Amino acid sequence: MKTKTATTLNAPPVQREPLKTYSTSPSSLWDYIQCPGRVRLRRWDKEEKHRLSTLKQEIGRVVHDLVPLDERNRQDRLDSLHYDISADILPQAERVVSESETLLARSDRIIAYLKKYKSAWEETFDFLDSVTGFRIYAQPELVMRPRFGEVTVFDLKTTASKGKYVSQRDGFKMKLFGWVILNALKQERDIDYRVNLSLLYLKDEKLIETPYSEADLDSFMNAEVRPKLRKLRRSIETREFMLRPGGHCKHCQMRSICPLAKYELERSGEINSSPD
Ligand code: SF4
Repeated sequence: MKTKTATTLNAPPVQREPLKTYSTSPSSLWDYIQCPGRVRLRRWDKEEKHRLSTLKQEIGRVVHDLVPLDERNRQDRLDSLHYDISADILPQAERVVSESETLLARSDRIIAYLKKYKSAWEETFDFLDSVTGFRIYAQPELVMRPRFGEVTVFDLKTTASKGKYVSQRDGFKMKLFGWVILNALKQERDIDYRVNLSLLYLKDEKLIETPYSEADLDSFMNAEVRPKLRKLRRSIETREFMLRPGGHCKHCQMRSICPLAKYELERSGEINSSPD
């Protein structure tokens, strides 16, 4: 009689090295998915000297910075805007200030309303995904618990909605917010949650809310996030961040220092380098 099984049973348990922990956020992971090289360029350009933005991007950045601040700090931030505004938007600085103030007033009104009627709080959540060794940070504008076992996550958009359509980037970011917050809350109380992911578009004051179950968010994590986190780990450990040019280059804030940007923008007709 063969004794193969007995040999296997007596084998010592395999000791795995604990995974080194890295951290990321939904937005930087999305940037990595679109173009790994952009993440490296952004890290290299820590002081944001080379950042180029569109008017929309700059208004979005200013409003998101201002929402959590009190009146006095908001004014200081607006007064110093000329120093940190992206170079290509500088001539439109006044417009950035006035549009940001309008959107901010709307956001204040809506957030005050939400806080008045339901249990709501502003907080940064994080959760360590033990499968990939990444700590993921989620900082939405507001989280509410309208009912037992239910969580609503709000994030603001400074643009107008496009019907019921949510961009791929926003959908990805919101689902990852939902997964992180759900798991952070389960550490406090392990019950079944239902998560509503709400995007509030300030320009037309539209709310798009999508409900998800824990199972939905877990399968999103397994199918769409973990494979990317594993790739990101490889990139960090091998220091290989490939540039991946495409349609996203025209909005890329690192295009002033990217060696492939000019080629890609010419190829897609965004800029024309032929002599007049
Ligand atoms: S310009 Fe394009 S290729 Fe270059 S970093 Fe940005 S997204 Fe990547």
